[in-house]
Amino acid sequence: MNLKDYITVVEDWPSEGIKFKDITTLMDNGTAFKYAVDQIVEYANEKEIDLVVGPEARGFIIGCPVSYSMEVGFAPVRKEGKLPRETIKVDYGLEYGEDILTIHKDAIKPGQRVLITDDLLATGGTIEATINLVEQLGGKVVGCAFLIELTYLNGRDKLDGYDVLTLMQY
Ligand code: IMP
Repeated sequence: MNLKDYITVVEDWPSEGIKFKDITTLMDNGTAFKYAVDQIVEYANEKEIDLVVGPEARGFIIGCPVSYSMEVGFAPVRKEGKLPRETIKVDYGLEYGEDILTIHKDAIKPGQRVLITDDLLATGGTIEATINLVEQLGGKVVGCAFLIELTYLNGRDKLDGYDVLTLMQY
């Protein structure tokens, strides 16, 4: 199956010059969505994962079916002010600005083997911040899985030393 057939490239969104990769047309197709999730599960099955972690919002869309399929937990990484209990935080740079990401302090136990998921690897800022949160809590990042990689933004440079899977490259 060619997953790129299910991605819609939206020109000049959210701002001029950006070619936004819209994954909702992939999610909309049950066969394509299952195929994509299964590829990530197959990758993660070899890694003895204890927990999946994903940043809001599209990291949840990918990470939750993976965690369900593997019968491991899922811990959400969210923007500041969204999680109800004690959190730790990290500042990060985005493709389109600056923000803060947080995770519950008790979401990860030291030594747990973590798979991080998101829809898309662009500059790598979001995933670098998510790795920072996992490692602050003593988790070991054993893999990072994405549907899409924008290779021209060199996000992989920030992930040196980490194992990375991307299902589509642009
Ligand atoms: P990064 O932090 O620069 O790697 O950007 C990745 C984050 O921005 C991910 O959480 C994506 O959801 C979002 N993102 C950036 N560009 C796109 C796009 O073209 N389509 C969908 N999401 C995008």
